[in-house]
Formats: sequence, structure tokens, C-alpha cells
Amino acid sequence: MKKLILAYILLFSLIISAQSTYLHCGKLIDTDNGKVLKEMTVIITDAKITAVKKGYIRAASDNDKTIDLKNKTVMPGLIDMHVHIESEYDANSYSNRFKLNEADIAFRSTVFAKRTLMAGFTTVRDLGGSGVNIALRNAINKGTVIGPRIYTAGKSIATTGGHADPTNGVKKALRGDPGPKEGVINGPADARKAVRQRYKNGADVIKITATGGVLSVAKDGSGPQFTMEELSAIIKISNDYGMITAAHAHGAEGMKRAVLAGITTIEHGTLMTDEIMDLMKGKGTFYVPTITAGKYVADKATVKGFYPELVVPKALAIGPQIQKTFGKAYKKGVKIAFGTDAGVFPHGENGKEFGYMVEVGMLPMEAIQSATTVNAKVLKNTNIGSIVVGKLADIVATDDDPIQNINTMENVVFVMKNGVVYKE
Ligand SMILES: [Zn+2]
Repeated sequence: MKKLILAYILLFSLIISAQSTYLHCGKLIDTDNGKVLKEMTVIITDAKITAVKKGYIRAASDNDKTIDLKNKTVMPGLIDMHVHIESEYDANSYSNRFKLNEADIAFRSTVFAKRTLMAGFTTVRDLGGSGVNIALRNAINKGTVIGPRIYTAGKSIATTGGHADPTNGVKKALRGDPGPKEGVINGPADARKAVRQRYKNGADVIKITATGGVLSVAKDGSGPQFTMEELSAIIKISNDYGMITAAHAHGAEGMKRAVLAGITTIEHGTLMTDEIMDLMKGKGTFYVPTITAGKYVADKATVKGFYPELVVPKALAIGPQIQKTFGKAYKKGVKIAFGTDAGVFPHGENGKEFGYMVEVGMLPMEAIQSATTVNAKVLKNTNIGSIVVGKLADIVATDDDPIQNINTMENVVFVMKNGVVYKE
């Protein structure tokens, strides 16, 4: 009797798991080949894409679900290479670091994570927070929190007084002396320890602040902040653990050193020279522009009191420059990986970046590929980035065809991640 019941349970669960979802797609973007296909059906079983067929295929059984996207444009889930999922800047951000506990940060981050997913971003790379981003990634993977798949850097690595030194601008009594554990290094030995500590903490990627930055309470926004020896130590050890590396960089010297040391991606790249562009092409370094963040900080710098006094002139000088640099680097043939720096501006507005990329010459299809196939490659994840049999069912849709109207990317109307529909 027991055996019989077990057999029934097994049979029943087989029937349940065999249930498939049929997406009838008016248009389907083939990101692998840069083509728009018409009248296609994508079949999803469990978390994976099990068929991609021409025409509108009728569901095989009553258990199956059909979703009508005949007047939509369907594409792979979008990937953002640069977000800060734990936080969102506002006029209170600088005092918040004295007020918020980890639990406060955690609750806020769940809101940002959900908003990001609903905007069509099914995968993000988090380039630095307090470390709560690691717990958030785990909670999303377990299904207890709704959000995108996260590759996280945990806490960024800086040098003393550098862009990601957590005690910049703080009064002496509270400053302490942060070290490799807190992400502040001086010398190659510290550098190695900081990377290994992050590996131990559960980080997926390593982020460094190779030059000064706009939003830190420090005077310099663009000078180099690591020695060549420190950079080489960080990148070598990261590679040992299979972790890709990202360098925040505005100024040319720090950027050049990071590229020479073998960094995977350059973030912002504001004052990138022709020489660096050539170096990046030679080494296969990816450029993550974050134009949206540049425009946002330049805009907010004109609002009195939004940023501390030290930040305002940096925001006005660096912010507007990024889009021009991107246009130049794109035309020169530097590999572009889509990334926004969401968190510097409100989460969920990541899609604005597409319009800014196209505005200065990138083709809409290339902009979409940079956020799908290219970013999957940067992350070394062969299961995402295109709608192909065997890949994970990360699928989104827009009302308009983005090849004709790129701004429709700001308004994703359908979101599926791992075969589960989150927005319809
Ligand atoms: Zn950032």
C-alpha cells in the first residue's frame, strides 16, 4: 500500500513538473544573431527554455499555460553590470550612514531589488555596499525575497582616504583605522588579504576604486589611488579564485594602471584617453559607461544641499562628460558592457541608459546586446543572455519595438525569471 501511494505521488509530481508555459511573441529579439524574428513561440518548462519555434504553437495539454505577447517585443532578461542594490542616494544619504543598522539596510534593499526586477533586469552585478548585498543574493536565490539574480562584490576595496574608504569625511573620534577586512588596503599584502577576505565572505566579484570618485567626501575626483603593485596583487589573487574584477575609474592614470594590471571592466571611464581605448581593445577590457548616473549627479549638483559642498564641483565636472567619452569609445571599437550605477539614481530607472547610448551613435540592437549577450559573457554565465533552448528562462517584453523606439526599454511590461512570471 505504501509503495502504491509513493508511486502515485511520484506520478503526480511528474505531471505537475511537466507543465509548460507557451509565450506567443509578436516579435522576438535574437540577441545572438542581432535579428528581430516575427510570430514566434517560446516554450518554457520549469526554469528553462525547452523550445523556440516559428509561428504560434498551441499548448500540448490543458495543464500548460499560454501567454499572449503577440503585440509585444520579447527579449532576454536584461543584465546591468553596475548597481548598488543596498542603497539609493537622496539628500539624507550622508547622515544615513550614522543612523542605519544592517537590518535597516537589508529591509530597504529588498524594495530596490524588487523594483529592479520589475524594470526587466533579471541579473545585476552589485559593485559595492556594506556586505548586506551578499545576504540579499542568498535570500533571492532561496526564493524568500523577490529580486534579480545578483553577482556581488560585497564591500569595495579602496586605499586609505580613497573613494571607498568608509570613514572619509567623518570626525577623528569615529574614523578608526579601517583595514583589509573593511576594504581599505595599503600595499600588496593587504591587497591579497582583502581579496581573500571577500572570497571568504561570499563575494562573487571584486570591485576596486582605482581613482577618486564624485560622491565620496574627498577633494579629488580623478587621481590614481592604487600603485601598480597593489593592482597586480588584487587582480592576480582574484583570478586565482575565479572572480572577475571591476575598477571604478574617472582619471586617466589610475584607469591605465588598472587596464595594464588586467582588470575585467572599467567603470565610468570618464577621462579615458585614445591611448587607453587602444590598450583596452588590445587586452579585451570591457567598458561599463554608467551614463545615467553621470547625468543624474550633474543635475542634482545644481540643487542646493543635495550633495555636500566637496561633492558639488566634482559632480558638475565629471557627470556630463561620461556620455561623450562613451560615444568616442564606442566609435573606436572598445567593447561596451551595459551598466548604469543604479542606486546613485533611483533603482528601476536603469532602462534610461539605452536611450543615452543610442543618442550618441550606438545602434539599438547593439545597446540591447550589450545588456544581454555581452554581459553574460563578462559574467562567464553561458545560461543567460539569449532566448535559446537549454538556457534559463529569463525573458522580458516591451510594448514597442525598441529597434524603432529605444525609449520603450524604460517601460518593460512583462518579466519572467527562472521560468517564473513576476510581471504580466
Ligand atoms: Zn558605482
